[in-house]
Amino acid sequence: MRITFLGTGTSQGVPVIACRCAVCISADTHDHRLRSSVMIETDELCVVIDSGPDFRYQMLRAGVQKLDALVFTHGHKDHTAGMDDIRAFNYCQQCDMDVYASLETQEVLHREFQYVFQNSSYPGVPQIQLHTIANEPFFIQGLEIIPIRLLHYKLEVFGFRIGDFTYITDANFIAPEELLKIQGSKVVVLNALRREAHISHFTLDEAVSLAQKLGCPQTYFTHISHQLGLHQQVSCELPQGIQLAYDGLVLTI
Ligand SMILES: [Zn+2]
Ligand SMILES: [Zn+2]
Repeated sequence: MRITFLGTGTSQGVPVIACRCAVCISADTHDHRLRSSVMIETDELCVVIDSGPDFRYQMLRAGVQKLDALVFTHGHKDHTAGMDDIRAFNYCQQCDMDVYASLETQEVLHREFQYVFQNSSYPGVPQIQLHTIANEPFFIQGLEIIPIRLLHYKLEVFGFRIGDFTYITDANFIAPEELLKIQGSKVVVLNALRREAHISHFTLDEAVSLAQKLGCPQTYFTHISHQLGLHQQVSCELPQGIQLAYDGLVLTI
């Protein structure tokens, strides 16, 4: 299984003209982050988790030729805004895109992409096949995906365990019974927004504590804000086995 970090940032961390902080003007490409998303490839299929506003560019940058499914963690804009661009895959693959989302996330998709779900579709609108996920394992063409229920302040978000890989973003609380699902993973990804407390995200310290509690061999942090600091400086502070992920990082598990 091959994991590609398509984006490791957040809408807070996108360099903007007005921001002249060290991270936003850094020459180190590790500090340049698109919105968080990962791609999981096996011999048989290619699945992307979340399609934020940078989805189109992320597909181009990673040279993705074929996409089999899109899985959503939750309905926030920085994770869903790019769904319109799956139309390119509809066109090339000549089939609907399988989209996996909770009912709560589907409500957002229906609202934000209302034209996609109208009966008399205008030619060229995204063609999607919605699949409802809940807190139970499901399969995408034989690939087992185990949802992990997280809380993002009060919003239910799903993390996912796929084999020895666990991907958690946009959370600041995980119930003990859900933590059990993560244990035994070789690689776990956690969100670590910044150092200061945040209402709906783990801080760096909280993410480090959780990583140590879980004790998985490798932990990577994602959904990183420019407020966290420079990749190189933060990396030096992290305990062994814990690293910042960065855009373009590829892992083979
Ligand atoms: Zn969110
Ligand atoms: Zn987010």
